[in-house]
Amino acid sequence: MKFGTKSVHAGVSPDPSTGAIMTPIYQTSTYVQKAPGEHLGYEYARTQNPTRDALQKSLAALENAKHCVAFGSGLAAVDAIAKLLKPGDEVISTNDLYGGTYRIFTQVFGPYGLTFHFKPFDNPNDILPLINENTKMIWVETPTNPMVNIVDIEAICKIAKAHNILVCVDNTFATPYLQTPLDLGADIITHSATKYLGGHSDVVLGAAICNNDAIAEKLVYLQNACGAVPGPMDCFLVLRGIKTLHLRMKQHCANGAIIANALKNHPGVDKVHYPGLEEHPGHEIAKKQMNDFGGMLSFSLKNDTIEAAIQLMQNTKIFALAESLGGVESLIGHPATMTHASIPLEQRMKTGVTDSLIRLSVGIEDPEDLVEDLTTAIDAISTEKVDALVG
Ligand SMILES: *Cc1c(COP(=O)(O)O)cnc(C)c1O
Repeated sequence: MKFGTKSVHAGVSPDPSTGAIMTPIYQTSTYVQKAPGEHLGYEYARTQNPTRDALQKSLAALENAKHCVAFGSGLAAVDAIAKLLKPGDEVISTNDLYGGTYRIFTQVFGPYGLTFHFKPFDNPNDILPLINENTKMIWVETPTNPMVNIVDIEAICKIAKAHNILVCVDNTFATPYLQTPLDLGADIITHSATKYLGGHSDVVLGAAICNNDAIAEKLVYLQNACGAVPGPMDCFLVLRGIKTLHLRMKQHCANGAIIANALKNHPGVDKVHYPGLEEHPGHEIAKKQMNDFGGMLSFSLKNDTIEAAIQLMQNTKIFALAESLGGVESLIGHPATMTHASIPLEQRMKTGVTDSLIRLSVGIEDPEDLVEDLTTAIDAISTEKVDALVG
């Protein structure tokens, strides 16, 4: 089955009791048993829920996986995956990663005895010196946030396999429409379905996906034992979002490319980071492992100051100033003061998150309007600067 057909149909079938074509929202906490232990496969809603089941099946199918375990948020999924490890274990992670993941790793799991090493994965062999007998997991984000760097998933997995290390890929930015990391050798995929999978900025949800039965069993155990489960309404919303994932992603990608090129040619812009641009250092690997280049990009200004960036973001009318990404509407954000504020200055600068760096989550509006919105906003800060100089 091809991707679009899977997006619409995978995991969902008409409700057996009524024939409802849409998976019902099973808003119940418990299920009646005929006799103690005699039930229809559902006992208590933390443990099982039919709406959640349908979502898990759908997500597994999209990632060409056997198993999917859904959680109350992307970070709850990260939390469960980190709990597969034990004190003394070490993790090597891309340094340019989602701020919340950096925070849970260093602030929550650090004190519980896990050690994290953060490193750019531009050259996969650079991680070799960090590997020792305690290394149990390699954590990959690609494209990364917010620098949109590309990690060669296959090359990292080869190194990991040789050392018996698990590879987890956060596939939030790419979505299975653009890349399926398990097919490239990864062991676990994590998603913030809050972003593209849900796609409409109306739900928070996460998932962990894998092929290995033993890992899946542990994740299901953690889902129930720790209890960070998504509610049935939220599962329904993500299921609904997934049905148009392929259509939305097509438009996100097309718009992303148009905007990257427009920004590149604007005199007020210093650098544009978008894997679809030929000069992007990860362009060739992106072409190899992704079906297209996505709707996330970032850029810096010639006037590399926090003030200029903030002024620009207040000048846009369609791009809304907000955290998050992956919804139908275009968002603009300032990593240095927003998503990446919890990352220490020195670490932030090292990863390229400079003062004026601006991140765009390009939506599915008409690209002409988006380009005009951005160029007008950038032109305005240039004029204001001139006015200030003249004044
Ligand atoms: C948003 C995000 C997360 C966290 O997901 P939540 O649903 O907000 O908990 C993790 N990884 C990436 C790449 C994200 O963008």
